Parts: sequence; structure tokens; C-alpha cells
Amino acid sequence: MTLTRTTCPYCGVGCGVLAGADGTIKGDPEHPANFGRLCSKGSALGETIDLEGRLLAPQVGGKDSDWDTALSLMAEKFGAAIRDHGPDSVAFYVSGQLLTEDYYIANKLIKGFMGTANIDTNSRLCMASSVAGHKRAFGTDTVPGTYRDLEEADLIVLVGSNLAWCHPVLHQRIAAAKEARPDMRVVNVDPRKTATSDLADTHLRIVPDGDIALFNGLLAHLAETGALNRAYIDSHVNGFDAALAQAQQTNPLDSGLTEAELDEFYRLWSGTQKVVTVYSQGVNQSGCGTDKVNAILNCHLATGRIGTPGCGPFSVTGQPNAMGGREVGGMANMLANHLDIENPDHRAAVQGFWQSPVMAPQPGLKAVDMFRACADGRIKALWVISTNPAVSLPDADGVAQAIANVPFVAVSDIMARTDTGDLAHVLLPATGWGEKDGTVTNSERRISRQRAFLPAPGQARPDWKIMCDLAGKMGWSEGFDFETPAQVFAEYVALSAATTDFARDLDLSLFADADYAALIPTQWPANDKRFFADGKFYHADGKAKMLPITAPAPRAAGDFTLNTGRNRDQWHTMTRSGKSPRLGAHLAEPYAEIHPDDAAALTVTEGDLIALQTPTKTAVLRALITDRTAKGQLFAPMHWTRQQSSAGWINALAAPVVDPVSGQPASKMNRVTATKFNAA
Ligand code: SF4
Repeated sequence: MTLTRTTCPYCGVGCGVLAGADGTIKGDPEHPANFGRLCSKGSALGETIDLEGRLLAPQVGGKDSDWDTALSLMAEKFGAAIRDHGPDSVAFYVSGQLLTEDYYIANKLIKGFMGTANIDTNSRLCMASSVAGHKRAFGTDTVPGTYRDLEEADLIVLVGSNLAWCHPVLHQRIAAAKEARPDMRVVNVDPRKTATSDLADTHLRIVPDGDIALFNGLLAHLAETGALNRAYIDSHVNGFDAALAQAQQTNPLDSGLTEAELDEFYRLWSGTQKVVTVYSQGVNQSGCGTDKVNAILNCHLATGRIGTPGCGPFSVTGQPNAMGGREVGGMANMLANHLDIENPDHRAAVQGFWQSPVMAPQPGLKAVDMFRACADGRIKALWVISTNPAVSLPDADGVAQAIANVPFVAVSDIMARTDTGDLAHVLLPATGWGEKDGTVTNSERRISRQRAFLPAPGQARPDWKIMCDLAGKMGWSEGFDFETPAQVFAEYVALSAATTDFARDLDLSLFADADYAALIPTQWPANDKRFFADGKFYHADGKAKMLPITAPAPRAAGDFTLNTGRNRDQWHTMTRSGKSPRLGAHLAEPYAEIHPDDAAALTVTEGDLIALQTPTKTAVLRALITDRTAKGQLFAPMHWTRQQSSAGWINALAAPVVDPVSGQPASKMNRVTATKFNAA
């Protein structure tokens, strides 16, 4: 069996995979993300590539159709909406599952030809707060960390990150490094005790959103104990005094930790030079997510713990190509090549390169706002690509109603039935993992190829091709006459070269003459350059910026705080991972973790059902009684959809509260009541 060298389609670790058409799956020993390792999800990929449930032909009005009919109707509806209601009456909602080439074409089409930036992505739910925090501190969205830094650190602080389940191969790498270097210390900061806490030397059980009190307290401690790097601050950082003054106003006990826990952590952090602080959704998915990011970055900047091996802040991305999407301007407030849509020079440069008729003049609607605009009638034509917002966004039932309210909805997917696809007027069959070619970028900025090892089934087409075909139907053949993803990638690299005057960190010159077919996993920037090693940042004066961060008021006691997240063995709405019996055996049904004292107060015993309620919604879930979840808190997985579980789609209960800076939903901070469910 010939094995094809490709990349895992699940998490942002971006592991290399050797895959065969017979379902053979092996870890790629030569891929620098995993060196042959795979987690449970990656190992089971061979069980997910069958055609059961696949969408194999375009559908119009629920009936099988053909590409010409479906795309002609789409062109007519999108064209009419733009003509009659203006460019901002159309929108695309896309996915971190898309390959970089797909993302590039989607953004070119809507921003440069339709004339609106109403394109956002489910990556808004994943790392938007980190993007915003990086831009505030560094002047651009630069992730300075690498996986090797984790192995070289003397202290790893994992904040709001269940790496063991959500980035398992990275967790394996840390475990191996810790075994080889017994002096390495790992601290896990999380309101919930997780599989990641089990590896850590210390689990710091903060209260939800207690992160800012913890890191503001650390900054104040560093100042009090003379552990700041004054020379670094003077040369490379603005805003220190205001940031410190605000930190000194914070009571670190508001983190929920004891004085002894705080003292031990602060002394460990300040006494260790090589510190990496890893953070993900527990930080990002919060109403103060961007502030949490900057509270962490402040501590690294105030001590110069950035830009050197084994040192620095490191936001790990949830999705396989969240990073690639960022690179090509995959969100409503970005342009390709890390340029800013709000900057007229950047807009002009990109429009000039694209030779496009228009350019979106301002940022578009972010995810939650986009579906509000669907609900109130502003959006007349919507294209959802490779994602399932009718169950994955907060207020999922409201989002489903909002989509149903849009006069014309197209959905591209690999599956014939999804909660969102069921609301579409036109369904477009896309090729899936194993059938399409392109590139993805992982959490450490390493660009890898995904390669096809299976034929495209039925009439399925790659996403970039579907978008180009629609552009052709709308009269924009020129600019979208690509025949291969290699040509799309080459244009993206050329755009990078054409905008180097503006692009402040995204250096793709190493790909200029790359052989796309043979592309090996390659990290940018070139030549092992380490970001910020020279103390230069991307604000106009070359300095980084520390921000004064206000800790949120402690939450009032009362209802439960519902935290949602991933299981070890499932991926998002289980479109693919749900096909694997092996993965399904891990945790087979929706559940809610509840503390034993809370369960006792509700007279709930193991196996009972509990009803979680907001004023308008209820979810009924199996109780999983465990002290891994703190008193007053609940945890429920996000994977089950309306189609899979009659009462378990948890995002129906999530309020559409977002971080005011990043627009990222606060998915870990929902207010619910809980009662024992009486089936009778
Ligand atoms: Fe795939 Fe992530 Fe597992 Fe690697 S760690 S095999 S990328 S799911």
C-alpha cells in the first residue's frame, strides 16, 4: 500500500500523517510537529473516511441538482442582494478546517470583488482574543513560541489549556521532556482539574476568570521583589508604569487561590528564567479574554522573558488551520498577509495586487454579530462553508432561527445532513480530508501540506474551486482562473512579496520558489529566525506595549457557571470523529460534570439525568459526579448536536456574550440552574 504524506485535520498541533486509501494511518516520523506520534483522534482517521452520509451532488431546494444550476442560482442571489441592498447584505461564515488556499480565495472573493468584509470564521471562537492581545502588545498578530521552546523550558505554565485532551501530541512531548529533565516544572492554572492537571506538579484551581487577578498579582510581585528586567523595559517596552499601577490595585486573592498557593507560584515564576506560558480556550473564550492575554504578556514583557529559547508566551490554536486563516486575512477585521483592513494603505496595496474592482472599506461583522444581522434582516444572502453554526455558536437555537430568516442560504459541506445544511436553499458537496490538496499552518507557524490519497467522491469539488466557479458565474473569471491549489498558493506568496513594505512579520520569501508538490513542513520566518530576539516589536517606535488591565469583579454566588469544551476523542460536531466506534467508546453520550456536594444537594446520584436551564432553554444530560469540577461549576462537552441528541446540544444554553475587543464568545462562563431531571 502506497502511503501519502499529509497532515492531520483535527487540532492545531498539525501532526504529520502517512495515510493510505485502505485506511492505513501512521504518524509521520519525519514531521517536526509529532515525530511519528499520533493521538487517539489522529490514529482513528482511517475509520472516518468512508462515504456514509456524504453529500455527493449539489442540491437545490432539497433535490439533487448539478453544479451549473446550483452556482447559477447562487450567483443570481448574491448578485441581486449586492445590487439591491449593497455589499454588506451578503456574508460568508467559514472555518478553521479550510485549507489556506480555500481561505485565501474566500477572502479575495468577498473582500476584493463583492466589496464587503462580512466574512468571519469559527476561528473567532478559538483564538480571536489572542490575536487581539498580540496586536495590542506586539503591534501585530505574532505567535512567538515554538514546540521546541516547551521542551527547553524550565517552567511551563498551562493556563486554561487542557493540552492532554485538546492538543494531545504536544502534551506527549511535554511529558517526554519532563521525564528526561526531572527538574522541569509544570503548573496548570484551571478552574477544572483535567487530564492536564495530572501531569502538572501543581494545579492552581482559580475561580472562573480569575486569571487576571493571578497575573496582575504576579506583575506586582515581580516589582515588589526586584525581579523586573528594568533594562529590557527601558529599551523595549512602553506602558510599564500604567500597567504596574493597575496591577497593584488588584487583589490577587480574587483569583480564588490561597496566599500560600500564590506565594509559591510567584516565587517559582520569578525565580525561573526559562518560562513558557501556554494558554488557549480558558483564556480566550471569556468576556475579558483579550485582557487576560495582555495580563500574561505583561509579565513576560516586564521580565524580558520573550524572544529567547525556552521562554515566552505561547497561544496554541484549537483548529488545524486557524493560523493559516490568520495569515491570509481569514477574519472580518483582517486582510491577507497580516495586513489591517482599517489601514487605507494596506487596502490599496492588496487591491492593487488583486486588480480587483472594489475593496471592502471597513471591517465586517464578527461571528456573533453576523448572525444577529441574519436575524434582523440585514443579511440577504449567506454562504456557510465547512462549519455548523446552527449548533456550534452560542445561542445555537437563536442562530438556527437567524439562518432560517435569511432569504438565501448556501452551505458547502462534506455531509448531506447537518443542522445548518438542513436550513440551506443550496447545498454544495465539498471534498473532505484525504481528497483535497493544500496547505495548513500549525500553532508554531509551520506550513505543511495536506495531500489527497483518495479520489473526489461523486460530484464533490475542493472548496477553493467551488469559490472560483462562483466567481466565474458572477463575471469575475479573471482573478479566479486557478487550476490547481499550487497556483493559489503561489499567488498568496507573491502577494506577500508585493506587500513586504507593510507586512511586518509574515515573511513567505522562503516559499517563493518552493516545489509545492514536494513541500516539506516549513516554519516561517526563514532561517530559524526567532521573533523578538532583537527586542524589536511592530509598533511604530519598535517597542512592545504593556497595558493596564483591570480584573473583573468576582462573580456573585448563585447559579452554576457552565463551562463547555472538548472531549479527548471527539472533534467539534462529530461529523467525522463520530464515525469511529473506537472514539465513540470513550464518552458515549452527552454529560455534565458536577461536584459531589452539588450533586448531593440536588439529590442527584451517578447516572441520574440533570436538567440545566437558562430562562428560555433546557438541556438534559447524564450526571457525571466528580470533584474534578469545582463546587458551583459544571462542565459539558460541546460535541453533540440537535441531530444526535434530543436534549443535549449545549450551545443552546450559551449566552451570546463576547469579549468587547476580540468579539470572541465567552463560552466558558455561562450561567445556568441545575435540577434533577424527573423523566416521569
Ligand atoms: Fe491530530 Fe492534534 Fe492528535 Fe496531532 S494531536 S494527531 S494534530 S488531533
